[in-house]
Amino acid sequence: MLQPVNVGDKTLNDYTHLVGRKLIEEIRELAEPLRGSRLLNVSATAFGGGVSEILFTLVPLMRDVGLEADWQIILGKEEFFNSTKQLHNSLQGNPCSLTDQEWKSYFKYNKINAKELDKGYDFMIIHDPQPAALHKYKPNAAKHWIWRCHLDLSTPNQADLGPIMELVNQHDIAIFHLDTYRPRELDIPAKIMPPAIDPLSPKNMALAQEDASYVCDQFGIDIDRPLICQVSRFDPWKDPLGVIDAYHQVTKELPDVQLALVGSMATDDPEGWDYFHKTYEYAQGDPDIHILNNLNNVGAIEVNAFQSQSDVILQKSVREGFGLTVTEALWKVRPVVAGNVGGIPLQIEDGESGFLVDSPEQAAQRVLEILHDPPLGKHLARAGKEHVRSHFLMPRLLRDWLLLLHDLG
Ligand code: UDP
Repeated sequence: MLQPVNVGDKTLNDYTHLVGRKLIEEIRELAEPLRGSRLLNVSATAFGGGVSEILFTLVPLMRDVGLEADWQIILGKEEFFNSTKQLHNSLQGNPCSLTDQEWKSYFKYNKINAKELDKGYDFMIIHDPQPAALHKYKPNAAKHWIWRCHLDLSTPNQADLGPIMELVNQHDIAIFHLDTYRPRELDIPAKIMPPAIDPLSPKNMALAQEDASYVCDQFGIDIDRPLICQVSRFDPWKDPLGVIDAYHQVTKELPDVQLALVGSMATDDPEGWDYFHKTYEYAQGDPDIHILNNLNNVGAIEVNAFQSQSDVILQKSVREGFGLTVTEALWKVRPVVAGNVGGIPLQIEDGESGFLVDSPEQAAQRVLEILHDPPLGKHLARAGKEHVRSHFLMPRLLRDWLLLLHDLG
């Protein structure tokens, strides 16, 4: 067996007041014929990133409706994870391709993991490219194999996409966040399933205004002055420097405004640290720019507090897979100003449920509009929340999965 992840219990009925009785009943009906089906999710890690955010809720909910759902993690040493990090970057467009040695390591560890893989599953769900060769080495472990892609494959490095698609094409079906992420080289059926958030998790549960203020106050935010915030890894695609530029333009007109840049980083992610330092230097010691990371103890509740406390949330990405931070902010009824890229336009209709922007200047202008006109912000945010309620909460994703399992089974 690979390393199992202990996900704890969750109850679908607890979500009824948030998504409505109709969806909950539909899910229970769809689940009935699948009762007792054995399903295994395989991913590379249980911590950090969208895959684990989703599986920590989806797996217990699948169990709650009667499936025998599990989640296990592949094993690997540094050489394997260096190769898969490189692969992750190149599949999202980095021109630097894997070396022969790196491919060797990729296949070597997939082979080792395949040996450990239990058999007898009805459905095997392989998340992302890291375990994509398990099927090659143990195709009889499950009746149906599903490849679930969480990456943006719209402009991949073709040299690395080729070998991965050869492996993926051995599966029964592949799933993507957006239609534009489906590669031309895919020969198997595809399904589009955008991700979703758990409205009851510590990151997204309702937090009293006083508690959110209390947390922000602990981090030196003046809770009586306006706050704008971006929650994101320190990464050029998230454009934290553009956020600082926008903030400078905003403060020319409204000098009271403060900025929080909240971003956690893996301790072993040197690129993330480089960009963190770059951002820090760019802020030039401005005491109203608060740059926080997980070393400041910014966990899920703190992210929740910063998002809940902000007058405007920015997500000024220049490239974005889906943008769960946007979903999270909208769910908290915050007005959002975000880059018009990737999955963001799926979540925000410009001028209706937030603002889409293409430059720091536009971002600043939209932030000012909202700060000058609080009823406008409220109107946008309410529309945003309802859009998230009907499209991007976990029960909707569970229903999509059950429909897919029906079709396969
Ligand atoms: N996140 C966090 N702490 C941070 C920064 C990000 O918990 O300091 C979370 C964020 O709340 C979201 C996820 O990490 O749930 C980021 O997902 P998103 O799709 O926005 O971007 P990605 O990092 O996957 O490109």
